[in-house]
Amino acid sequence: MAEPVAIATWVFGKTAVTVADDLLRKGASALDAALAGAQAVEDDPEVNSVGYAGLPNSIGTVSLDACVMDGRTLNCGAVAGVENIRHVAALARRVMEKTPHILLVGEGAKLFALQQGFPLENLLTPKSLEQWEKSKPGRGRRDSVQPAPPDDDYTSHDTVTVLCLDKEGNLGGVCTTSGLAHKLPGRVGDSPLIGHGLYVDNTAGAAGGTGVGEEIIRIAGSLTIVEAMRAGRSPQEACELAVRKVNATAARRGVHPARVAFIALNTQGQTGAACTARTDFKFAVARNGHIEVLQGKEIAP
Ligand code: ASP
Repeated sequence: MAEPVAIATWVFGKTAVTVADDLLRKGASALDAALAGAQAVEDDPEVNSVGYAGLPNSIGTVSLDACVMDGRTLNCGAVAGVENIRHVAALARRVMEKTPHILLVGEGAKLFALQQGFPLENLLTPKSLEQWEKSKPGRGRRDSVQPAPPDDDYTSHDTVTVLCLDKEGNLGGVCTTSGLAHKLPGRVGDSPLIGHGLYVDNTAGAAGGTGVGEEIIRIAGSLTIVEAMRAGRSPQEACELAVRKVNATAARRGVHPARVAFIALNTQGQTGAACTARTDFKFAVARNGHIEVLQGKEIAP
């Protein structure tokens, strides 16, 4: 029997790990707990980067991405560019369980959601619309379809990635987001991509990312971390290694490292978290009813 652990990105990860920890202690599987935790954040109108009230893309449409992965079997499912469906993490799980596929996108994902009985909803709230208006790149100009350049300060971003270890010693993970605010229509980041925004394998560990997805994809962030754990690194060492890789790729391109952060968890219940400079990354951990919000270690370029 393992001691259950839940870890999730950002301060709102506290909501996710609180829900997940309660379920894990009652004997829920890692994947069930991670999904319930992520869904609690999708439902929270105060969180403007995930699910309901997520910040829209450059033309004012809320477009969501999510994926799930089961560390026992490597079963996984994902959806990207989904409009008008709030619980995209649950939808990703349906893709995993009900189809022979891993990733459904756009209208096809929405059609599948309707077939599965998910309701269509308007995900914009008056508050999120107001925030979107205020944070528009080139505000005052008429070219509102211009995307914000990656990592500009007004590109609000924050994904919830939840990793859990259950009593049986299994790992499960979920990643769900509205992606970068003001992104180009059709843009997909790391979050729904298995191996980038999330990777979970009982035989090595679990990892997830948040921040500028383009930089996470460039280094296959989550798979990099899980493979580093397989090679003997601790979750903390593995997260730091991935951030150093992001720093190195930025240096090769002659740019400043974008804001990126990673979390990791292994089957011994050890956790790790690291981020690029200026990211001010916080994450939440729950163990047996004890819930903490901690600061991720910044790795300078
Ligand atoms: N990684 C997400 C994306 O690029 C955004 C975020 O985590 O803030 O879509």
